[in-house]
Amino acid sequence: MGTIRDGTGTVKAPRRFGGAPGRIWHIVAMGVRTWIESWPVYRQVTGTDPLGRGKAAQSPHSRDLEPRTVTADRVAHSVCPYCAVGCAQKVYVKDEQVVQIEGNPDSPISRGRLCPKGSASKQLVTGPQREQKVLYRAPYATSWSELDLETAMDMVTQRVLEARRKGWQDVDPHGRKVRRTLGLASLGGATLDNEENYLIKKLFTAAGAIQIENQARI
Ligand code: SF4
Repeated sequence: MGTIRDGTGTVKAPRRFGGAPGRIWHIVAMGVRTWIESWPVYRQVTGTDPLGRGKAAQSPHSRDLEPRTVTADRVAHSVCPYCAVGCAQKVYVKDEQVVQIEGNPDSPISRGRLCPKGSASKQLVTGPQREQKVLYRAPYATSWSELDLETAMDMVTQRVLEARRKGWQDVDPHGRKVRRTLGLASLGGATLDNEENYLIKKLFTAAGAIQIENQARI
């Protein structure tokens, strides 16, 4: 009595085990086959991974893993916030939460690559130490207090206007008409991109500032 294989390789019960017992035999035979095929050495010897460093050594758990990028609802395009290289990123979002950040292969600058810091930038967004609220330390205070964003923006606006007014000059010491303020200055960081620098220059020049610089040039 031997097993019988049809043209598709399916193991069939011997003819004398027809009917329900035959189906049981079929299930048992398939179970044994699955069991043997789950043996890494068997897969190593019979498959395409003779050194057993890839598919042959894969556990069922590893086999069933899938990247978070597969189940994301949408992808937002961004730029790494860390340094002046400006590598492009794809930000994967699920249920309105960032679930993964990867390099964008479409970028002519980075061509999909991110350095270890850029690769870890998801932690910058989702890390528990990220501040989610505006903190304010009043003059002479020894601790921080929380402010709502609208109050904080109003305070920033008042300070900018006051500094602009205090530093305003209609004429310089030689009597030349200048109409500028020395009360405001801007020093940009290397992570600012072209568009941000453009807007900063526009904003500060419109406010009358003349001291507008960037750390990348200094
Ligand atoms: S991924 Fe690295 S090299 Fe690229 S911008 Fe970010 S910090 Fe700079």
